[in-house]
Amino acid sequence: MTDIIVGIDLGTTNSEVAIVREGRVEVIPVAPGVRILPSLVGVADDGSLLVGEPARNQYALHPERSVRSIKRRMGEYTAVQMAGKDYSPQEISAMILRRLRDIAEAHIGQPIGKAVITVPAYFSDAQRQATREAGEIAGLEVVRIINEPTAAALAYESCHSGARKALVYDLGGGTFDVSVVNLESDVVEVLASHGNNHLGGDDFDDKLITFAIDHLQAQHDIDVRPHAQAMARLQHAAEAAKITLSDEPYATLAEEYLLEKDGVPIHLSVEISRDEYEEMIEPYVAETLEAVHVALSGAGLTVADINEILLVGGATRTPLVQRRLERELGMQPRAEVDPDLCVAMGAAIQAAVIAGGKAPTVLVDVTPYTFGTNALDYFNGEMYPYCYVPLVRRNTPIPVSKSEGFCTVFDGQSKVDINVYQGEDPDALNNIEIGRFTIEGLRDAPAGNPLITTFSLDLNGILEVTAREKNTGLVHSITIDNAISRFTGDKLAEARQRIDGLFSDQENAEGRPGESAEAAPADDSRRLRVEAGALIEKAERLLASAGTEDAEDLVNGIEAVKDQVGGPDANLKKAMDTLADLLYYLDA
Ligand code: AMP
Repeated sequence: MTDIIVGIDLGTTNSEVAIVREGRVEVIPVAPGVRILPSLVGVADDGSLLVGEPARNQYALHPERSVRSIKRRMGEYTAVQMAGKDYSPQEISAMILRRLRDIAEAHIGQPIGKAVITVPAYFSDAQRQATREAGEIAGLEVVRIINEPTAAALAYESCHSGARKALVYDLGGGTFDVSVVNLESDVVEVLASHGNNHLGGDDFDDKLITFAIDHLQAQHDIDVRPHAQAMARLQHAAEAAKITLSDEPYATLAEEYLLEKDGVPIHLSVEISRDEYEEMIEPYVAETLEAVHVALSGAGLTVADINEILLVGGATRTPLVQRRLERELGMQPRAEVDPDLCVAMGAAIQAAVIAGGKAPTVLVDVTPYTFGTNALDYFNGEMYPYCYVPLVRRNTPIPVSKSEGFCTVFDGQSKVDINVYQGEDPDALNNIEIGRFTIEGLRDAPAGNPLITTFSLDLNGILEVTAREKNTGLVHSITIDNAISRFTGDKLAEARQRIDGLFSDQENAEGRPGESAEAAPADDSRRLRVEAGALIEKAERLLASAGTEDAEDLVNGIEAVKDQVGGPDANLKKAMDTLADLLYYLDA
């Protein structure tokens, strides 16, 4: 039997254990379907030891019998009290490590004696030594301690792509770290690190908890804060809503039976939009971006030196985090390796290499293309109806389902066209349209009637697009088979060239196909199209200042002209005349 060395991410909030078997990286389930062990320990009513989820569940009610975030105390010569007894931080950490070891042994059916354990890049020698001791107490020889950003880079295989510099942005539950790493011939060197030991997804939960407390105060005139059990429930509801908001434009903070007031049960049910939530957490995200710049200057680098951003930590699934990073650093962050698991995976990869194996790769199914729809928004300073709104970004692991909120533009708007595109261009019309449908029969409402559009892409490349009127539940959807094997931009251009080539051959041989003898000369036809372009531009400029009804007419007129640009001249001329009449009337 070969010696298996496990990789362990011993985190502040959560821990994971991973191994490499038959060349594949496996994060071992700690319970059916769950691969994350909360980093909490506790003592139950009957005196038995609790590790993970049960310890987390009792934390709010019995903090004196529970310990969390022990990682923050590693390296301190201090005693931690649990159920009236003193423990060293190493001993508490060892309880988590021991549980992970037991889980791994049960999973693979053989004893495990060695581990690679990860620590933050900023950990001092004393903190590293304490981690090593915790391993030993748990019966594990710690063959190597590696930095968390190094493990992340291994999981993302960044080191295989030649010399480069990566920014590892790690936002967990309670800590934030950003590291600048240099990757060269399989060696990962941490150049600089910065962060905040008390910033993470838990702060996002707290904002939602405050929101719910205010709501309950206003609606039921009740202060929930003194009620520990209700606060624990609120905590769960807030985290669930936060996670929903990563994929959906709205979430409901709900708890059936939060507490009683004068013998009457109080239920919590309050909706929050992603926009409201993002406003609450924006200052935290801004703080992380400042830390990014501190780390960059610590490494003597600028944004332009960074080749890629690697996302680590569950809270990086927050769309605002990804959007702000992309805007600040001008590149889409990489998120294809599960951010909760990538550090453990990297530790397992390092362990496999130490055990004498080849560095395995992490296999993930991702979409190679971006899919999205269009909306009316500002584009180059002007209102434009075909602003691209990507819903499923390139390199997102599949299966995936993402939703966005949209609004009707006109009062009484009864239908909305949903166009489905594949591509990256901010102008939707430059992407490849792969489907369209109309949702009709919307209720008679003022402009701003909310609609939710959902893109669900499965492992077989089948894309289902659904539009739902939020207030009535009216839905319409289409299914696009083979969405990920469609033409890509390059292939499309190639195909176009090939067809053009065939046509020009034919034209040379027998004149332009499909044109009668009286057809307009090619020059006139081209001029007409240039005029059409100018007309569209003018119409789009007017769109910003037009009233809602006029804007609807304008959008229809513009679309009609665009539809005919590739068609016969006579039809194009007709559509242009209609639009020109409209412009004349609006200009007047
Ligand atoms: P970690 O310490 O890396 O396991 O990260 C845990 C944090 O990530 C917790 O605050 C979780 O609530 C948060 N988290 C997990 N999944 C999501 C998600 N889909 N969207 C936003 N935050 C998440």
